[in-house]
Amino acid sequence: MAAKNEGRAELVILGASIGGGFLIRKLISTGTYRKFNTTVIDRNEYMEWFVSIDRYICDESLVDGHMVRAKDYFEKNKLEQYNMKFVQGTVTNVTSDGCESGGLVEYNSSPVGSNSNDIARLLVPYRFLVIATGTQYGHPVKSDQRQKADRITELKEWSGRLSSANEVVVVGGGSVGVEIVGAIAYKFKQDTSKKIHLVTRSRVLLERLPPNASEYALKALKHLKVTVHFNKDADSLKSEISPDALFLPSITRINTSFLDNKTFRGSLAVNGAIKVNSFMQVDTFRNVFALGDCCVTPLNEEKGILSVNQLGQVVWTNLIHKLERERLVTMPPRIQFIQAITIGQEDGLVVANYKLMKTGSEIPKMKAESADNFGHLDKELAMLNKMNKVVSILDCLSSVCCCCPISSGYREAALRKKGAGGKSQDPDTEKITPKSI
Ligand SMILES: Cc1cc2nc3c(=O)[nH]c(=O)nc-3n(C[C@H](O)[C@H](O)[C@H](O)COP(=O)(O)OP(=O)(O)OC[C@H]3O[C@@H](n4cnc5c(N)ncnc54)[C@H](O)[C@@H]3O)c2cc1C
Repeated sequence: MAAKNEGRAELVILGASIGGGFLIRKLISTGTYRKFNTTVIDRNEYMEWFVSIDRYICDESLVDGHMVRAKDYFEKNKLEQYNMKFVQGTVTNVTSDGCESGGLVEYNSSPVGSNSNDIARLLVPYRFLVIATGTQYGHPVKSDQRQKADRITELKEWSGRLSSANEVVVVGGGSVGVEIVGAIAYKFKQDTSKKIHLVTRSRVLLERLPPNASEYALKALKHLKVTVHFNKDADSLKSEISPDALFLPSITRINTSFLDNKTFRGSLAVNGAIKVNSFMQVDTFRNVFALGDCCVTPLNEEKGILSVNQLGQVVWTNLIHKLERERLVTMPPRIQFIQAITIGQEDGLVVANYKLMKTGSEIPKMKAESADNFGHLDKELAMLNKMNKVVSILDCLSSVCCCCPISSGYREAALRKKGAGGKSQDPDTEKITPKSI
């Protein structure tokens, strides 16, 4: 049984995925959970490791291992002893009592097996709020299904459509599109009658990554007999081919409509992203933070798991500092970026800070291994440490240490590539040095 409140602050986290999960693990691993009563709200009954969806849409037997009921996750890992509870509900509104105070989160709750008449509107008070509600993609990447059983049925249906389709079109030439089309083409590589297409509005694949990564991905997809259509959208292709299975992996919206009210509307960018300041606070609302894909920061960093970890560190530190009335920390001047992209089960690439680092068959294995951590708190906590190490190494490699041959060599190469001086670190900017608690 959880201990009584004992003057702890009410912390509400919206979203139980990568951003919300980071905070849960950080609070536990540092013992700072003792300072809060934490309520995690997610509209889904389940948590899903959709980062590996390319694998399990092609192999039904993997689906179950990539999805866990959130209630089971909280129970199995005994999160109640860390003063944490999970609530399934779709957040519909957030209010604030003032810039320096908390407010209320309003959500719709529909218990498993209920019909729409059973939906109840409920309120949770918060003193601190972290919004990590991410983005929505087209089916089947992200789902409108709220229950695990329905989500599994949906994925199985997609899988069935995929098997019987003569032509498959994957929309979007970013990392998600490349991974999904690669996985499908790999699965059906012996089936010469099935035509697999990738359509992108861009002139290149992976346009936010370096050109050699784009070229590598294109070569690998061609090897898997994928037809890539550049400078096109799905509609313009419809006259040329009549796909009987259409995948839409591109982002459709940012999940922030519940902030479209009198209080928070001004904190949203035109595309719906939540604008945060360099302390990760939502505009002038000092007790409200945002993290992950749903927000835009002054650094406008590439989104991904590693950036969530680095900025999550700022959110966590500032939650504690705010509670203890200490000076807040700003985000680091540079966010380290690393991304591993699989292209079928035998190929892939890794990019770190705009540099193609690695290619080949190890990448799918690496990603499959990291997926195995999902749902196991102990393994996830170990992963958190590994991520910190990766960030430290990248920090070291990309900083200007004239005495270090490795970092200065890396730095010179980066400067040569840019053809000009890169951004120097601002010595006046406070670095994150979270107080040890
Ligand atoms: C297919 C795919 C593959 C990826 N692969 C990689 C990779 O290999 N490496 C990498 O670094 N990054 C990868 N990414 C990106 C990475 O997954 C995202 O950056 C990360 O998921 C962002 O986490 P988040 O917590 O901000 O949002 P999300 O993961 O989108 O989670 C948001 C959560 O909020 C919940 N939610 C939304 N709206 C509401 C609401 N109104 N009420 C209640 N709950 C709500 C959702 O149900 C969800 O659980 C991938 C993304 C996709 C889609």
